[in-house]
Amino acid sequence: MDVFKKKPETKILIVDDCLDNLLLLQIILNDLGYQVQQANSGEEALTALDGTLPDLILLDIQMPGIDGYDVCKRLKANPKTQEIPIIFISAFSDPMEKVKAFKLGGEDYITKPFFIEEVVARVEKHLILTWQKKKLKQELKHRQEIEKKLVESHQILAHILESCPDGIAVLKYKPSRKKKPAYFHCTFVNAVMADFLGLTPEDFINQKIFNSSLDRFAPSLFHQFREVIDNQLSFERDFYYETLEKKAWYSVRAIPYNEGILIIVRDITERKECELILHQTNNVLYQQAVTDNLTKISNRRAFDVYLEQEWKRARREELPLALIMIDIDYFKRYNDHYGHEAGDRCLYTVAQTIRQAVKRPSDFVARYGGEEFAVILPNTETEGAQTVANTIQNAIHDLKLPHDQSPISSWITLSIGISVKIPTSENFTQLIQTADHALYQAKNQGRDRIRVFFNCLSGVSSTLG
Ligand SMILES: [Mg+2]
Repeated sequence: MDVFKKKPETKILIVDDCLDNLLLLQIILNDLGYQVQQANSGEEALTALDGTLPDLILLDIQMPGIDGYDVCKRLKANPKTQEIPIIFISAFSDPMEKVKAFKLGGEDYITKPFFIEEVVARVEKHLILTWQKKKLKQELKHRQEIEKKLVESHQILAHILESCPDGIAVLKYKPSRKKKPAYFHCTFVNAVMADFLGLTPEDFINQKIFNSSLDRFAPSLFHQFREVIDNQLSFERDFYYETLEKKAWYSVRAIPYNEGILIIVRDITERKECELILHQTNNVLYQQAVTDNLTKISNRRAFDVYLEQEWKRARREELPLALIMIDIDYFKRYNDHYGHEAGDRCLYTVAQTIRQAVKRPSDFVARYGGEEFAVILPNTETEGAQTVANTIQNAIHDLKLPHDQSPISSWITLSIGISVKIPTSENFTQLIQTADHALYQAKNQGRDRIRVFFNCLSGVSSTLG
C-alpha cells in the first residue's frame, strides 16, 4: 500500500467562537503546511462547506446559534460531507458529552485547554485514517469492477461452451500412484460432449477416466492423450463410434491445457458420408474413363498410361517388357456379312477371351482400336510372351466362332505380333512400332499366326504359329 504523504493542499476547517483558539490553531497548522479555513460560528461553518470541502474539521461544541453537535449532525446526514472526519474540541470534560459526540459521528474528542502536540498528533492520525479509508474504498471499487468483468466473461464463456456445436471437455491427468493406475479426471464437459456419448454432463464431472474407458471409443486414445501432455503438442484424429441410438464419425482434437488437456469433438458424419460418395463416384468415373464401352476391357487411354508406367519401371529395373498386338483376321468382311451387332458381339467375346487367357495380375489387356487388341506383359522374356500369345490363339480357335467370309478358316482367327525390349531410352513408342511391325508380318505371311520382332538390323521375324 502507498505510504501516506501530507498533500500541500490538505485543507482543515477550524470552527470556534473563541477567536484566540482560532488564531492559535491556525498559526500552528499553517506552520505544519496545512491550508486553514476559519469559521467562528455553526452558521459560518455550514456556509463555508458549500464551497471546496476540507479534509478535516476541528469543531467547537459550545457556540451561539447552531452548536457543534448540530453542525456535526447535519454534516453526517449529508452524503457530500459525511466522510469528512470531525474532531470535537470542547471545554466539556463530562464523559457523557464525549459519548454524545461520538454517537453523532465525531471521529475524536479533545478537551480544552488543549496541548498543541496532542491536537497535531490527532489531526495527523485522522488524516492518515481518512486517506487509508479512501484507498481501501478505491481498491474495493476496483475489485468489484474486476469481479463484475469476471462474472460477465464467465457468463459469455459458459454461453459459448453450451451453444457451441462441438463437444468440449477438460481432463486433468493423474499419474499412477501406489500401484493404482493413471487416469484422467474430468473437470468440465459441455452438454454436446455428453450427448455424443449418450450420457449427461453429471455422468462425467469428477469422474475418473481410465485407459479402458477411453480406448473403448478409439484404440490407444488414452496413450495419445497422455502424449499431448508429455510433448505439449496438439493432436487430431477421426474415429467411428456407435451407440444404441447413433452411428457416427467424430473428429477429436486434444490440446495441452493447464496440466491436462482440452478436448474438442466434432460430429463429422455428414462430411465422411460426402467423402465416401465422392470416393465411390470418383471410382465409377475413373472406371468409365479407362474402360472400353463395348468390350468392357481397358481402353486405349488406359493402355497408354500403363505402357508408359511399365516402360519406366522396366528401364529402372533393367527388366524385359513384352507387348503383344492382336488383330482379328478379316473382321471387316465379318462385319459386312453378319452385321454390326454381330460384329460388336464378336469383339466382346474375343476381348473377354484374351483377358481370361492372360493370368498374372500385372499383365494388362486393352482394346487398342477397331478390331485390334494389345497385351502388356511386364518382366517377360520373348519365350514367355510367345507362350501367352499361343494361349490366346488357342483359346480363340477353341471358341470356333463361325466366319463364312474368311478365306483362310471357317472360324474367327487372330494375327499376332510380339515385341520384347529391355528399355534403354524414354521412348516407349518403339515397342509399339516393333510389335506392330511383327503383326504386319503375321498378316502379310497369311494371317492366323504369331510373329516376333527381333531386335537386329534385318528385323527378321520368327515363324511361329
Ligand atoms: Mg465555544
